[in-house]
Amino acid sequence: MKKLLKLTLSPLRNQPKNNTCHTSQNYRSIWLGRSRFALCFIYLILPLSGQGQLKSIRFVDTNGALISTVDAATFQGEIYFPLETLRSVFDTNLTHKYASLTRQLVLNLRGKQIVLRIGSSVATLQPQATEIKLDTTVTLVNGDPYLPLTFFTRLIPQIYGHQATFNSSLAQIEFSKRQQVQHLQPDRQQYQNRQQKVVIINPGHGGNDTGGESLNGIREKDITLDLAKRIRRLCQEQKISVILTRIDDSDLRPSQRIQIATQHQGSFFLSLHCNMSFSTAVSGMEIWINNLKGQMRTQSQKVEKVDIFRPLLQDDYLEQSRQVAKIIQGRLGLLSNDVVQIRENPLAILSGIYMPALLLELGYLSNLKDEAKLQNEKTRETIAGAIADAIGQFLEQSEL
Ligand SMILES: [Zn+2]
Repeated sequence: MKKLLKLTLSPLRNQPKNNTCHTSQNYRSIWLGRSRFALCFIYLILPLSGQGQLKSIRFVDTNGALISTVDAATFQGEIYFPLETLRSVFDTNLTHKYASLTRQLVLNLRGKQIVLRIGSSVATLQPQATEIKLDTTVTLVNGDPYLPLTFFTRLIPQIYGHQATFNSSLAQIEFSKRQQVQHLQPDRQQYQNRQQKVVIINPGHGGNDTGGESLNGIREKDITLDLAKRIRRLCQEQKISVILTRIDDSDLRPSQRIQIATQHQGSFFLSLHCNMSFSTAVSGMEIWINNLKGQMRTQSQKVEKVDIFRPLLQDDYLEQSRQVAKIIQGRLGLLSNDVVQIRENPLAILSGIYMPALLLELGYLSNLKDEAKLQNEKTRETIAGAIADAIGQFLEQSEL
């Protein structure tokens, strides 16, 4: 199978990578996004064994519109797609890492980690450790990973919440909306703890969107991710399930973050951010609650691109959001003399979330004292501990 196809990608191989990508040397510059992929010319050389063929497969969205056409390879009746398909159809920020020694291929797709092994038909979806059995194995063709058809029809729906079916007469993969939201199958441990509620933590920003940055180069996106991972660990120690909307430096749209929260039917959504001010004197933590009747938030950069005019589902959870805000305020208040402010304003980024939700500003990166706190690992651990304890207290008290 390895020698069936020759991919004439050499002119592309030497071009610089156009986005931040944690890829291995081998693949760094091979695939460069949808437009360049269209130029990729794949041809067949005489197969040494088996029946290698190329086949154009269309990816069609829920409205029947064409997303992309991909040159797939067929071997003995099985269809395989180049890894680039994921980037051209689903997520331009896809990153991947291949370790040739262990033959392990790790993909970071839309905040989810997918662990595959060349020659294996089992895919593991992290952080839930959900195992998904594909019909055939992940394969290398000329050193490049190829994914079997069932990766798209079986695994992708687990991530995107849409059904995907292969229409062989039209040679297309069709996505359709599900009748009801389906949820990821829990792993064994989660299954045992099914009574437990799921907390969604959203580390603000990521990827090219660094968020605020202090004069010393401390970036908001790094602080929020670090804190989120600490809170997750400390919550898990309390047997509370936590889903992070991103687990690496990926750049997710607000709608994608909301979709993750909805998909997992969270009991509480916590978005983590750091503040910035023109005045270096302004400091302290703030807790924001989405309240349509509150004052408009003045800092326009806080509002990400979400349709502000859609019906607010979040309002139904205002009282519970206030309840958890108070608990967090109390716990964080113990850590310093600064008063932790609670503010209520219409927050577009929280409005589509159908569960109690808060936006937590962890401090001002523009303030030296706050910056030093957030830079200090011990302090971050203490802050994460206070938040995890508050979450535990809220879940125990609330009847969600
Ligand atoms: Zn932010």
